[in-house]
Amino acid sequence: CGIIGYTGKEAALPLILGGLERLEYRGYDSAGIALIEDGKLIVEKRVGKIRELVKNLWGKPYRGKTGIGHTRWATHGEPSQENAHPHTDSKNEFAVVHNGIVENYLELKRELESEGVTFRSGTDTEVIAHLIARAYKGDLLEAVLDIVGRLKGAFAFAVITVHEPMRVVGVKQGSPLVVGIGEGENFLASDIPAILPYTRSIITLNDGEIADITPEGVNIYDFNGNPVTKEIVIVPWDI
Ligand code: GLU
Repeated sequence: CGIIGYTGKEAALPLILGGLERLEYRGYDSAGIALIEDGKLIVEKRVGKIRELVKNLWGKPYRGKTGIGHTRWATHGEPSQENAHPHTDSKNEFAVVHNGIVENYLELKRELESEGVTFRSGTDTEVIAHLIARAYKGDLLEAVLDIVGRLKGAFAFAVITVHEPMRVVGVKQGSPLVVGIGEGENFLASDIPAILPYTRSIITLNDGEIADITPEGVNIYDFNGNPVTKEIVIVPWDI
């Protein structure tokens, strides 16, 4: 029920775990993270509290500078480790965290299965990872733009890929998603408090917007790929 994304100069893991802890109040049944580390995707997820995930990460000093995190409130598929997010494509090159519901996931799942894709979870989310992997031709934003119109429902998601290790793309369509602007680092989150310890410069996304995030900058687009000019709001210290 919460999303965090980071790409920048720091190790992403502690920043993502901190953000997930601040999203805890939204309620969740499982939690997980994905990082890009030495050109590979690391995925760790656990049912239960974030401390279960953290316990499992002890002694694993991941240094990857790009990552995503998730707290899940199951809607499709029981709370289980397989169904916890992030979800990946068949080659483990793309990882997706998602809030909300992809209403037409069964139709998309059947289409992908008929092309030989094997599903590893009972979630509606997994279709997003496979669709993006199938559409990918070297540019993550282009792949997201290519498939986003096929997803029906109210949702937000974030995706990373080993092919572009310093990039996070986030989509808002009915569930909350904000961008945090840092120096040499940028953030995505379901709400502002999740990233307030890291930055106070915030862009609030509207439905139908996509954030393309690298350490150097943030660009916002509509679902047709047209750039959208957004205001950066400085959140005051006293909220
Ligand atoms: N529908 C997705 C699932 O059941 C996402 C749920 C959420 O918003 O956490 O896994």
